[in-house]
Amino acid sequence: MAGYLPEQALQPLIYDIGAPGRSGVNLPECDVPRATLPAELTRDDLPLPEVGEVQVVRHFVKLSQLNYSIDQGLYPLGSCTMKYNPKINEDAARLPGFAQLHPLTDESGAQGALFLMHELQGWLGEISGFEAVSLSPAAGAQGEFAGILMIRQYHIDRGEGQRDIILVPNSAHGTNPATVTMAGMEVRELPADAQGNVDMRALHAACEGDLRDRIAGMMITVPSTLGLFESTILEVIETVHDAGGLMYMDGANMNALMGVVKPGELGFDVMHYNLHKTFSTPHGGGGPGSGAVGVNEKLKPYLPGPIVEVVAEEDGDTPPLYGFVMPEKSIGRMKAFHGNFGMHLRAYAYIRVYGDSGIRDVTRYAVLNANYLRARLMRSYRVPYPRYCGHEFVLEGHIEGVDEVHALDISKRLMDYGFHPPTNYFPLIVPEALLIEPTETEVKEDLDAFVEAMERIAEEARTEPETLLNAPHTAPVRRLDEVRAAKELVLCCAPALPSYS
Ligand SMILES: *Cc1c(COP(=O)(O)O)cnc(C)c1O
Repeated sequence: MAGYLPEQALQPLIYDIGAPGRSGVNLPECDVPRATLPAELTRDDLPLPEVGEVQVVRHFVKLSQLNYSIDQGLYPLGSCTMKYNPKINEDAARLPGFAQLHPLTDESGAQGALFLMHELQGWLGEISGFEAVSLSPAAGAQGEFAGILMIRQYHIDRGEGQRDIILVPNSAHGTNPATVTMAGMEVRELPADAQGNVDMRALHAACEGDLRDRIAGMMITVPSTLGLFESTILEVIETVHDAGGLMYMDGANMNALMGVVKPGELGFDVMHYNLHKTFSTPHGGGGPGSGAVGVNEKLKPYLPGPIVEVVAEEDGDTPPLYGFVMPEKSIGRMKAFHGNFGMHLRAYAYIRVYGDSGIRDVTRYAVLNANYLRARLMRSYRVPYPRYCGHEFVLEGHIEGVDEVHALDISKRLMDYGFHPPTNYFPLIVPEALLIEPTETEVKEDLDAFVEAMERIAEEARTEPETLLNAPHTAPVRRLDEVRAAKELVLCCAPALPSYS
């Protein structure tokens, strides 16, 4: 067993419970002739557990309870938008007519699904002020990749293929520079100024200097990953446009804007949405996502396909006919079939249930909750950018005079108080960063309980720092080798099963 698991198993492995002859299934009498399988296809040396139904149920329910989840409490993991996912979304996603629709079903037999995708494309375009939307990218990072490929192709088609530099602020999410590099372009990093905005002098220098003809565009997150709205955003957009570049907005933080600000109207050319963040969907553990992209008129022909369009207008009693269309100069497909349709369904249900004023309220409460936490926590922690934030904010996980306590220790101690830790050490430009995003779905009592835990931890840091350094004390496991756990993922707890090779 891998070394990052505790010496003592938390509960017996399923292989170690049960007894010979116990069974959790009750199969009907065999009503077909029995046959003997060839010996090379069978084996009897598999140490399979023999357990009854009750044991199996209890075993897996207990295991599931070892995991913290949004259904248990506050999950303030900044940048990830871990909000409560309405259960009605799950009902919608499980409707058999949708869930059992085969992706190769003929379009005429999938009109309901196509209608839903068409509606969602339209709503997302409306929310962000874009001309057209493609739902095909499977994650935020893939939406970014699609967006940068579109920008690249746009320049190539205009005979400006030499434009190969994308400006990226140094607070950016790691996927931004990775995307630029994967698209064969070059990253030019821009510093932040003292208020946390993009340093305008550096931006002007980049856009008006020798590299002007190589500027392909800029990728920027609004509000930034510091949780701050770029107060100079209009000047940023104008400066990059004047240099001939296009503007990419990382829209992962749309829950601080929707219903209030439309990026398309600010002047952005392309943006991705994280449907699994802003528009809800369970997305811990790397589950499926959706990184839909929206574009303005300039980039519309380049959208990844297929997108859904009305291919035959409504005619009397005949409803309109929807079909999949590949945009004229499409950069191609990002994913097999039509994207993660289950996510489209959930986002559709979410937007439809909230409606336009509800969507605006989501933003207002997300921003209000974050500012409430920020204002209260500023009394016990240092907040490097003490101004109104969007839906999240950064504080420094460092207690004055207690140098041995780090952000990580504060996070680990939070677990003892029953909270999921915030995001640690991101954005990189803030030392000991704790990025806190409460989301709109928390009520004041829960926010207050979080503040109280954070205040007590600050006090403990001064009076009994070892309590923090050894935390968590109540979690099933203590400190893990997180790098190894991520790089050498062990998904099977079976005791050395014989290999099948
Ligand atoms: C989450 C996030 C991304 C990446 O989205 P994925 O769906 O995880 O690929 C990009 N940028 C920001 C700011 C994010 O928060």
